[in-house]
Amino acid sequence: MSDYTMTIDGKAEAAKGTFGVINPATEQVFAQPPECTKAQLDSAMESAQNAFRAWRKDEAKRRQTLLDIGAAIQARGGEIAPLLTQEQGKPVDKAMQEVFGAAIWFQYTASLQIPIETIQDDATRRIEIHRRPLGVVAAITPWNFPLMLAVWKIAPALLAGNTVVIKPSPYTPLTTLKLGEILRSVVPPGVVNVVSGGNDLGGWMTAHPVPRKVSFTGSVATGKKVNTAAAPDLKRVTLELGGNDAAILLGDIDVKATAQKVFWGAFENSGQICSAIKRVYVPEKLYSSVVSELQEIAKTVKVGNGLEAGTQLGPLNNKMQYDKVREMIDDAKKHGAKVVTGGQQLSSKGYFIAPTIVSEISDGVRLVDEEQFGPALPIVPYRNVEDAVERANATHYGLSGSVWSSDPEKAAAVARELECGSAWVNQHLAIAPNLPFGGAKWSGIGVENGPWGLLGFTEIQVVNVAKA
Ligand code: NAD
Repeated sequence: MSDYTMTIDGKAEAAKGTFGVINPATEQVFAQPPECTKAQLDSAMESAQNAFRAWRKDEAKRRQTLLDIGAAIQARGGEIAPLLTQEQGKPVDKAMQEVFGAAIWFQYTASLQIPIETIQDDATRRIEIHRRPLGVVAAITPWNFPLMLAVWKIAPALLAGNTVVIKPSPYTPLTTLKLGEILRSVVPPGVVNVVSGGNDLGGWMTAHPVPRKVSFTGSVATGKKVNTAAAPDLKRVTLELGGNDAAILLGDIDVKATAQKVFWGAFENSGQICSAIKRVYVPEKLYSSVVSELQEIAKTVKVGNGLEAGTQLGPLNNKMQYDKVREMIDDAKKHGAKVVTGGQQLSSKGYFIAPTIVSEISDGVRLVDEEQFGPALPIVPYRNVEDAVERANATHYGLSGSVWSSDPEKAAAVARELECGSAWVNQHLAIAPNLPFGGAKWSGIGVENGPWGLLGFTEIQVVNVAKA
């Protein structure tokens, strides 16, 4: 029997089958969580539907529950963080940041108001706009920030009065299963159900008749399937999908200081962030100095098992992603690009790739045009800013982007030209609980976080009272 159980109707639930979870630093299977059956998913959905009737009624209780969840996560941080490192690969100090960030997200969300707007209130009528919960939310998450991205869905869904059935990625199910275990003593049975399994389970959830909303984070390809599956019974969807963020460096930057920030904007979490910098556009006159600064930084970074002290970057999370990034580096070389540092496998075991800086590359090569989602960064020269902006926008993606300059207002004017959900100046990855986060174009539908994300878990009801 597995050490890990699903949470269905407030109780631990094993399954007939299990599947292996691989530690990407060792390539060893180290856990066997349950493989949810269709009948078990039906039970989870039924439980969430039953729990919705009472859960939607008491806003004050929901607010307090969110604070209690935050405290419970904080109390168990020392246990969750190493588990996150083992299933995901990230260094344990970063795993700890993700766990405490998850607690903070619950605490922040508890402070949000669910507005009632009064449009008219006089002798003839009172008209109010209320925000009602939707019902059961099916939440599906990827493997790069498994805990944090689960919380981005669970916290606002619960505050708005919905109940949840959540499925983590089969690569990183353990911390979400652990969260479910923690929640058994904090939330009423059925309010949060956690199920685990493969991609088929995600398909069953999106086609299931019970959920009224699907909140999905993952790739564009899967996001399109989710949207299609949700359409026949008009489920609401929020889709947080992939990105191919451009950073545009202007000609007046401090090269050394900018290179540091750009490097970490690209390589944090080994590049496995939807809104990491995935291509850098540099004026021709600064090209060689920017490339050599980035090269120097890349050489100093300690890559290794996230459980070892001092590790700054862990492995890629899984073999498929590892092969994809290696293939894209090889493809760039075939197209005449130069790997100035990195590129190689770092040890015989584990999905490690050294931080890789690629120069002499341009648009039209996969590493520039596609989402690499890994530690390989193409540096592309440009002649004029208009051209750089046009190339940054010449993509189906539109998650975020950044512009860098010693004149922030000049950079802001360029940033506003980017076709993306978040346009940053002299920074990247500036994500916070009180800011909406979402993508333009194929990078998504809707937003998460802040009051805007909360409202995505509600629908409007106009209450119109005629008095005379
Ligand atoms: P993925 O699309 O392969 O899988 C995401 C989740 O969907 C997993 O839980 C998976 O089991 C499930 N799934 C797979 N097929 C399904 C189907 N047919 N129906 C329903 N669910 C299904 O993505 P991934 O490889 O886990 O994650 C990496 C991708 O996620 C990258 O493209 C990255 O940019 C994106 N991402 C986006 C954000 C954001 O907020 N925009 C954040 C993190 C990651």
